[in-house]
Amino acid sequence: MARRRQIYEGKAKILYEGPEPGTIIQYFKDDATAFNNQKKGTINGKGVLNNRISEHIFTALGAIGVPTHFIRRLNMREQLVRQVEIVPIEVIVRNVAAGSLSQRLGIEEGEQLPRTLIEYCYKDDALGDPLVAEEHIACFGWASQDEMNEITDMAIRVNDFMCGLFAAIGIRLVDFKLEFGRIWDNEYSRLILADEISPDGCRLWDMKSNEKLDKDRFRRDLGGEVEAYQEVARRLGLLPEGETNEVVDLDQQRKKRGK
Ligand code: UDP
Repeated sequence: MARRRQIYEGKAKILYEGPEPGTIIQYFKDDATAFNNQKKGTINGKGVLNNRISEHIFTALGAIGVPTHFIRRLNMREQLVRQVEIVPIEVIVRNVAAGSLSQRLGIEEGEQLPRTLIEYCYKDDALGDPLVAEEHIACFGWASQDEMNEITDMAIRVNDFMCGLFAAIGIRLVDFKLEFGRIWDNEYSRLILADEISPDGCRLWDMKSNEKLDKDRFRRDLGGEVEAYQEVARRLGLLPEGETNEVVDLDQQRKKRGK
């Protein structure tokens, strides 16, 4: 088979030209980065799990009428998606205080927010994806006012749906990041959900133990990254029966380490 043309290599994914015009292939790597690329590592098997988890969530969102770029999963590490023009904004949705919000405003991690909070970051690695206001987005024309309204509406719908999805499997959806893209039809464009939704870009806490089941295990050197991602996939019903035995009980593991 002829080698496919690589379009882009990001921190956790590689994008290749797809089989038809307007499509691309997302290849999920095992590479992990944190703190604006200062911390780098590999989480063996992460790409396979994120591919499955993201497929599951995008398919479910599509089924409730949220337009997404997802077309179909091709194999263990690849999925076919629609090519979009990425809006250069990371949309952060928060239900519970954590991470940079806690640091910035001195709110204790784990505090339930009085209402869902949406924040925007300008997508620029060199600048460290700075937090921006809607005024910056309008001023610099990164998205129109109509697009911002649509983005906020979709982000709230995605949050409502995902809170329920995870609550049903004993997981608290603390926060997550979304990216949107434009699809052009002559001079008209519309927005669809793009990128991925996986434990790489979500904070997921076990409801009973508060155990972190996401990339914070890597960011904060907690260990057990793959086991945590597997646990999310297992609870979502994405691991074949045979594989469930391999899911390590995080509580047991911690007890063994004497913590
Ligand atoms: N997030 C992400 N990519 C980024 C920044 C944040 O996926 O470049 C996700 C992150 O995993 C978390 C949420 O967005 O679920 C909020 O992240 P936060 O702003 O607290 O930043 P962090 O503490 O991760 O630096």
